[in-house]
Amino acid sequence: MEGGGRRVVAVGAGLAGLGAAGRLRGHGSLRLLEAAARPGGRVCTRPFASGLAEMGAHWIHGPSPGNPVFCLASQYGLLGPEAALEENQQAEAGGHPPLPSVTYSSSGRVLSPKAVSEARDLFYALLASTRAFQGSKEPPAPSVGQYLRAEIARRVPTMAGGVEEARRLQLAVLAACLKLECCISGTHSMDLVALEPFGEYVSLPGLDCTFPGGYSSLSERLLSALPEGTVLLNKPVRTIRWRGSFREEGDDSRDFPVRVECEDGDAFLADHVIITVPLGFLKERYQEFFQPPLPEWKVEAIRRLGFGTNNKIFLEFEQPFWEPEQQLLEVVWEDESPLEEPSADLEANWFKKLIGFVVLQPPEQHGHVLCGFIAGKESEHMETLSDAEVLSAMTRLLRRLTGNPSLPAPRSMLRSRWHSAPYTRGSYSYVAVGSSGDDIDVLAQPLPEDPQDPRPLQLLFAGEATHRTFYSTTHGALLSGWREAERLNHLLQPPIPPPLPPQP
Ligand SMILES: Cc1cc2nc3c(=O)[nH]c(=O)nc-3n(C[C@H](O)[C@H](O)[C@H](O)COP(=O)(O)OP(=O)(O)OC[C@H]3O[C@@H](n4cnc5c(N)ncnc54)[C@H](O)[C@@H]3O)c2cc1C
Repeated sequence: MEGGGRRVVAVGAGLAGLGAAGRLRGHGSLRLLEAAARPGGRVCTRPFASGLAEMGAHWIHGPSPGNPVFCLASQYGLLGPEAALEENQQAEAGGHPPLPSVTYSSSGRVLSPKAVSEARDLFYALLASTRAFQGSKEPPAPSVGQYLRAEIARRVPTMAGGVEEARRLQLAVLAACLKLECCISGTHSMDLVALEPFGEYVSLPGLDCTFPGGYSSLSERLLSALPEGTVLLNKPVRTIRWRGSFREEGDDSRDFPVRVECEDGDAFLADHVIITVPLGFLKERYQEFFQPPLPEWKVEAIRRLGFGTNNKIFLEFEQPFWEPEQQLLEVVWEDESPLEEPSADLEANWFKKLIGFVVLQPPEQHGHVLCGFIAGKESEHMETLSDAEVLSAMTRLLRRLTGNPSLPAPRSMLRSRWHSAPYTRGSYSYVAVGSSGDDIDVLAQPLPEDPQDPRPLQLLFAGEATHRTFYSTTHGALLSGWREAERLNHLLQPPIPPPLPPQP
């Protein structure tokens, strides 16, 4: 394996790193260095209750032939029979798959589906209208949030036929829709998400599906396809020295431009390094992570792009308090409105950012488990609390929503903490106000930038945040890894030119 060929090191064994490693051809040796004790990164399945909990990625978004995660998972036989159905793959859900739901309000009542759907339909019509501003030189607002709120404000006088109580309720539902959008975009507020490039994100067709054996079954399959010893776990990289001239001790015959130094003192010399660390990690550590430092244009893209937090809270119950057909329990705070500033008192009100709960299916596998979603600063505050504090806040919340003060407390709880995770520092990327899709392309650009450099492609960049149309997804991550592997393959194994035509 070692031989005299080019040496490649990949940093990070998430889907981007595993995908890149599986696609590389014609190199001499390959090492994949992972900081954590397990592969998968933000794909992370844990046992919980009688089933599994997805701490990171949950669904294949848009499971259809254009989605490489769906194709691989199908090929490996990792999906249930429903996901394979033609009609499932063709359904257009636009990133918001419909689930049978019930909506609880903060006053302890279940809201009428009609009242909820009227406001929700308005929200999704407005959200869809944001696509019209793609490429616009003068979008009506800098952010998605500001645009939506202005459009909602314009409609207030005629909303709900002008009936005050019904209008308030519609505004409360719209506020809940905005919070859900924060979870989807992985941001504290939609006011941080840029309006003009928002439509560049592509939703693939297909009704989102899950992995019956856990999302990690995919990363495990990708890992098992690599030669043994390729992946080194518990190997956090501290510094990547590039544009250098490094030699192995006692071997003067070869000179490598890159030296990858780990926190435990180990070092790996390489011709090429594929960097797949999350944008959150790069934002925090780019200064000391690269020596010499990255060029300013790259740093600017890292700074400008957005990377926020979305967390999950899993609650296991002895008995369900919801109906068997209900798959989504939504929460509406009746005193909220998108036209008013949300409370900044995180300690007192953090749990109000929770959008509701997905019921894990099927209960025969998982038990009676709800998975709550919460984004933004409130989510980051939740990470600082103890398990007992979160459990007690969730119990109080559910008692209030159901109007049942003696609703039994959950039997157990598990939550993610992506913002505190030192090698992730958040959940996923978004195109923030002040940045654009071009920044994503800049982030993906290899270094050194001069294509004529005699030692090209020293640093290559992959990971979900480097995919211009599928950022924030597993398929974006996988495709970005494949993209960088192909870039190297092209250098290491240039395509064989077609035979010359016979000479006359
Ligand atoms: C809560 C949550 C829910 C999500 N839900 C979905 C979903 O339903 N569907 C979907 O498609 N996507 C979802 N995503 C997004 C999806 O999980 C990610 O886009 C994707 O997994 C990212 O893969 P990646 O390889 O780019 O990064 P990662 O998976 O983060 O891999 C990067 C790896 O680099 C390692 N690393 C970092 N620093 C170092 C270092 N210094 N040295 C060595 N290793 C290092 C990390 O430990 C990590 O393993 C979700 C994410 C989260 C957090």
